[in-house]
Amino acid sequence: MVERNLTEAIAKNKANIDAIQAKSGVDLKECYQCGKCSAGCSMAAGMDLKPREVVRYLQLGLWDDVLKSNSPWICASCHTCVARCPHNVDIPSLMEAVRQEAKRQGIVPVKEVDVFTNVFIDSVKKNGKLHDLMLTGMYNMKSGHLMQDAWAGAPMLKSGKVGLRPHTVKDKEAVRRLIKNSLKRGESK
Ligand code: SF4
Ligand code: SF4
Repeated sequence: MVERNLTEAIAKNKANIDAIQAKSGVDLKECYQCGKCSAGCSMAAGMDLKPREVVRYLQLGLWDDVLKSNSPWICASCHTCVARCPHNVDIPSLMEAVRQEAKRQGIVPVKEVDVFTNVFIDSVKKNGKLHDLMLTGMYNMKSGHLMQDAWAGAPMLKSGKVGLRPHTVKDKEAVRRLIKNSLKRGESK
């Protein structure tokens, strides 16, 4: 077992942890480690740190462990944890803030999530709406999972669930402005 000096860890990472609290709006002291968040999280099985542990690690100053964790990338922002938490600790906002900071530092533990997010935003920017076929094609290419779900393509096209041509909106520029502004807001928080 690796021994940690938590006094040192808290002192060393105080600025980072304060910044992540400010960015997410979460006061880490609110969490008393009851574990209801982890118990209800449908993504917890794939997480290397369960939602409760993400909060605990941050309370203890273990910043690098959280930054390298896959949990902020796997979190589906479903808010089940918030609904269950007796103190309304906003874990999805915390996960999002950690994910943004990890990405800023070039730490991307789950490449697929990053690829999916970028392709999704590109598609909406281009057409004003998501084009499923572009999303799946670009995602498969960029993620390296070339044949992922390829079997579903033909039946979905045939049944009209996806179309070859994208649906668009009248004012694509307004959608682009919306995306640009929200990305800017996220960066400046
Ligand atoms: S449910 Fe809330 S108080 Fe309980 S461990 Fe999770 S974040 Fe902490
Ligand atoms: S928001 Fe994230 S951490 Fe919370 S329950 Fe959903 S997947 Fe789990």
